[in-house]
Amino acid sequence: MKRLDIYLIIAVVAITSFLFIQFTLQSEDNQEVIISVKGEEYGRFKLDGKHTVLDIETELGYNKVILDDNGVRIEEADCPDHDCVEIGFIHRSGQSIICAPHQLVIEIVGSSDADLDGISI
Ligand SMILES: [Zn+2]
Repeated sequence: MKRLDIYLIIAVVAITSFLFIQFTLQSEDNQEVIISVKGEEYGRFKLDGKHTVLDIETELGYNKVILDDNGVRIEEADCPDHDCVEIGFIHRSGQSIICAPHQLVIEIVGSSDADLDGISI
């Protein structure tokens, strides 16, 4: 009886970690960063760990956006409050950075969104 319990625990741990790894890999795989300025899409970028620097300059102001293996963040901005810089890195689907003075929105969308798009087409 005791031995059976141990096998059961091992099985549960193995299955849980397998599912966790699967989930982590899937959710990290197809993440996209959508950047919008003044309500219009500025660009979409794959969040694949590649270091990318984006200089986004509009008549409202300047934001320097960094994409790398930590996620995405605003490194520099000339907005008055600098709230967007203080947020730091975001890396999960559904997270976003908003620079209100510059009407800049950065959001991460995950693989589930991409799958849904594929089905609806
Ligand atoms: Zn800002």
